[in-house]
Amino acid sequence: MNSDLERKVLDAVPTGLLIGGEWRQAASGATTKVEDPSTGEVLAEVADAAPEDGIAALTAAHEAQAAWAAVAPRERSDILRRAYEAMIARQDDLALLMTLEMGKPLAESRGEVAYAAEFFRWFSEEAVRIDGGFATAPAGGSRFLVMKQPVGPCVFITPWNFPLAMGTRKIGPALAAGCTVVIKPAPQTPLSMLALGEILQEAGVPAGVLNIINATDAQGVMEPVIRDGRARKLSFTGSTGVGKILLEQCAEKVLRTSLELGGNASFLVFDDADLDKAVEGAMLAKMRNMGEACTAANRFYVHRSVAEAFAAKLGERMGALKVGRGTEDGVQVGPLVDAKGLGKVVDLVGDAVAHGARVTVGGEKGSGPGYFYPPTVLVDVPQNSRLNHEEVFGPVAPISVFDTEDEALAAANATEFGLVNYVFTENLNRALRVAEKLESGMVGLNTGLVSNPAAPFGGIKESGLGREGGTVGIEEFLELKYVAIGGLS
Ligand code: NAP
Repeated sequence: MNSDLERKVLDAVPTGLLIGGEWRQAASGATTKVEDPSTGEVLAEVADAAPEDGIAALTAAHEAQAAWAAVAPRERSDILRRAYEAMIARQDDLALLMTLEMGKPLAESRGEVAYAAEFFRWFSEEAVRIDGGFATAPAGGSRFLVMKQPVGPCVFITPWNFPLAMGTRKIGPALAAGCTVVIKPAPQTPLSMLALGEILQEAGVPAGVLNIINATDAQGVMEPVIRDGRARKLSFTGSTGVGKILLEQCAEKVLRTSLELGGNASFLVFDDADLDKAVEGAMLAKMRNMGEACTAANRFYVHRSVAEAFAAKLGERMGALKVGRGTEDGVQVGPLVDAKGLGKVVDLVGDAVAHGARVTVGGEKGSGPGYFYPPTVLVDVPQNSRLNHEEVFGPVAPISVFDTEDEALAAANATEFGLVNYVFTENLNRALRVAEKLESGMVGLNTGLVSNPAAPFGGIKESGLGREGGTVGIEEFLELKYVAIGGLS
């Protein structure tokens, strides 16, 4: 522990499970430790839910559902707005907490707190705009009335890489739509979600509307909750493999399902690109969150005529980044989240080198404590190396060259994932042509950042189902009910 401030921020976080408006210990009395990925030091011990806690949380959400759905939209909106304001007021403390448990540099954590809070502001505005429809049947006579109603209790499972934003992106629209929630954060980063739970309680969320269960036995605790049938929707952010398991579990009681899964983003740089703009975009798309983002550029395909210049400029920028504990001044790259994440990066870089890739920057893991890996650039990466097919989830930029637009598109689309791709070109025709042909839910055109609460975020192919954010975000939490009105002339 480095400072009194860190201790103070950690001590302020509730460590229990939030069920039915009360903070309580796990039924089994079990706890689990949260560690600082930059030192391995234990930061806190939090309750570790047992299966009966999961069911208790579901019961609380189910019992609170009807009353919450009946709360006036303006009141639901005001609660979310207050939560947004509280997050911004506590931005520094929330950011420090996030950096401590997840590792990202403080400046990035501050950015995530603001981004996460923005989902509450956006959906506080959407809560009062839930509409419906009324129409005359084409043949006349009867009328159609279409109303929108909350889906019902929701189950959320979130990953560790954006500990707040992945939660608020689901909680915001759910509460706005009138749905109650059971949420399980990732075991590496429960503290940010627990702090958020307290903020939402203070903002006026009634007992039972938001239930938080931290659990290290994710499957053992969540499967009975999903299969129970009282929850009517699952929203999951995480890996494609786990998403498929959950989709099968949802089939039993036909839950509505939103899945934000893995990515394998390509980053295409054409010969007519503004190279400085492309390098700037690459730094953002690659290095945001140390590369631990589903939207991270995973594969760089650069036109042969500019590949050397691009690799040199990117290497210079990557090599100059300061690596260290995220709380330290000037640090731009923190540790990876855990030993497993670090091991994967080491394996994928080793595999690429074995297939003939050359390391121009970084490439060697440090020996000290913490899960640090240096910013790394690889060139001449063959298409058959694992780096071109699997998410590296780390600060590694593998560069390959292409000669034609068709070749670039074929390489970009040669993946089962379809979350996002990035394109850099100053040619408008090419930009639109390539954006249309890319098989992904999102495209970054001359930008390395696509995430925005006001835009529909999501993937196609094995990157997921549904969209979060934008005006469609709330629709994921609403059912349409059509009332046929007869007897009119
Ligand atoms: P993960 O292993 O799939 O875990 C995500 C969450 O699911 C964690 O809370 C995890 O808890 C839980 N989980 C795992 N197995 C489960 C099961 N059988 N039943 C219920 N819950 C289960 O993913 P991760 O490694 O934490 O996160 C990285 C992945 O998330 C990457 O693939 C990334 O691309 C993806 N992601 C996607 C988006 C997007 O919007 N598309 C955003 C961020 C991240 P445990 O850790 O305890 O198993």
